[in-house]
Amino acid sequence: MAGVLDPELKRALAERVRYYNELGIYDFYRRGPAEVDSSQAGIQENPDIQAEQREEMTPRTKAAVALPVLQPEDFVESDVSDPTRALHLIREDLGDCTRCRLHKQGRKQIVFGVGNPKAELMFIGEAPGADEDQQGEPFVGRAGQLLNNMIKAMGLRREDIYIANIIKCRPPGNRTPERDECETCSPFLMRQIAAIQPKVIVALGAVAAKTLLAINAPMSEFRGRWFDFRGTKLAVTYHPAFLLRDPRQKKEAWKDLQMVMKELGLAIPAKGVE
Ligand code: URA
Repeated sequence: MAGVLDPELKRALAERVRYYNELGIYDFYRRGPAEVDSSQAGIQENPDIQAEQREEMTPRTKAAVALPVLQPEDFVESDVSDPTRALHLIREDLGDCTRCRLHKQGRKQIVFGVGNPKAELMFIGEAPGADEDQQGEPFVGRAGQLLNNMIKAMGLRREDIYIANIIKCRPPGNRTPERDECETCSPFLMRQIAAIQPKVIVALGAVAAKTLLAINAPMSEFRGRWFDFRGTKLAVTYHPAFLLRDPRQKKEAWKDLQMVMKELGLAIPAKGVE
């Protein structure tokens, strides 16, 4: 059947991609008909190919998306100084969104974002997965458990921070969000950021980093430094799904989180992410 790959073949392909990544080769192109429905592109559906790896498979010219710079006066929440109320208005405006194709590709519900509307720290992931789609909350599956551990290791609670994704609906088969989906959905995220006004944003994984910063670069170039995201400090760390696959990188993620903690004036405990 077209587009459906044998699990063993998928695994072998994932290994091959990792091998090429280690050689410094990141761009891969499918041979064959130009018009391939990405939901049918079996290799992108493989949940075992975790965030960083999948992201590098997208041709780089497609990966960076310049997000719209919004004029506050254009939005219903523009005069609202209370972030809770502003977020409520943004959620209302989003409604039962049908702005992109994802609404008819199996999403159960919109995953808006969760946490403290006055949070100093905001984590931004890629897109909801199956658990998030089921529960309507970002990062509640296995990757979410690890994110919770990361938050705890920082001496914070999940309810202290705000968590959202670049897009709010689950892409079929957990494929990487398409450029137009990011472009359509991200204005709502921009408005959430504007309402919350966090001190620091942490982009989880290369898709979030590339989309927010409109820079095509590998994770090695994103990590360990500060970026300016429209006046807010932004750091990048590994996506928790990637850390589940390669737990040795948790040490590296802990370095990133320590950089963030320093910026937020948080005490740095000896124990890292478990
Ligand atoms: N991965 C993400 O990027 N976001 C989620 O909400 C869950 C998994």
